[in-house]
Amino acid sequence: MQRLALRWRREHCRIGFVPTMGYLHAGHLSLVQRARRRVGPAGRVVVSIYVNPTQFGPQEDLSRYPRDFKRDQQLCRAAGVDVIFAPGDGEMYPPGAEAGFSTYVTEETLARGMEGAARPTHFRGVTTVVAKLFNLVLPDVAVFGAKDYQQAAVIQRMVRDLNFPVRIDVAPTHREPDGLAMSSRNKYLSAEERGQAVVLAEALRQARAAVKAGPVDSVQLKQQLSRFIAGRPAARLDYIEIFDPETLVPRAQATPGARMALAVFFGKTRLIDNETI
Ligand code: AMP
Repeated sequence: MQRLALRWRREHCRIGFVPTMGYLHAGHLSLVQRARRRVGPAGRVVVSIYVNPTQFGPQEDLSRYPRDFKRDQQLCRAAGVDVIFAPGDGEMYPPGAEAGFSTYVTEETLARGMEGAARPTHFRGVTTVVAKLFNLVLPDVAVFGAKDYQQAAVIQRMVRDLNFPVRIDVAPTHREPDGLAMSSRNKYLSAEERGQAVVLAEALRQARAAVKAGPVDSVQLKQQLSRFIAGRPAARLDYIEIFDPETLVPRAQATPGARMALAVFFGKTRLIDNETI
């Protein structure tokens, strides 16, 4: 991959990059279109498909994470992707105490709250694999989804702090017609859970409606939304946070322009969503 990327760079070909864990959906493909627009018809678009073990906790869904490489290949071909980079675990993280992998990248501010608090080793895995992927794919621009807002913020900070020569582009969240954010994990949902999963998007909509009339106390708004979510029997709230969109610091007052994020369990399936309120 790196040899190919170096050749493209020598040929002055711009490289657009979309890192994914595969099981692609229309949200991923919207990132591919964006990467294509950024690099133009003469550029190259690379999609990586790698279910990165270091970003999963020990009790999480690494082994059952959905995979369908054939289908992903077809979708990438139809979307005009030039190269799929799908490394194996042994290549990305060679095992062994002596010769094995032993260097990690951590972002230490934005990665603390929300997903970082709920999943303590998650962002270390994300920043490490994305740093490796950037060094392998050598992109001019990399596209991430706002669906994982904190992740995009952490990556932007890593790129700035470690001087990666790459531009980060953040694409809006692609949703199902009823508002549910597209996610590979939606496949886990039973019909009943799928029906109730729209509660994340509804909570975001409610929050936006609530702040329109003027600032609202965040604690009160979060309590109101928790009760609303508890009204769906299949849903179990993990967290709701209302925060500054740049610093990700929680805000005592919810006002228009603040960002709200939430994570909700449906059985073992954990869904996240966020929007500007
Ligand atoms: P994943 O395969 O879930 O790791 O996601 C790969 C990339 O696609 C990440 O940058 C995600 O934020 C992005 N992504 C996932 N779901 C969506 C969506 N519904 N809309 C836009 N981007 C998404």
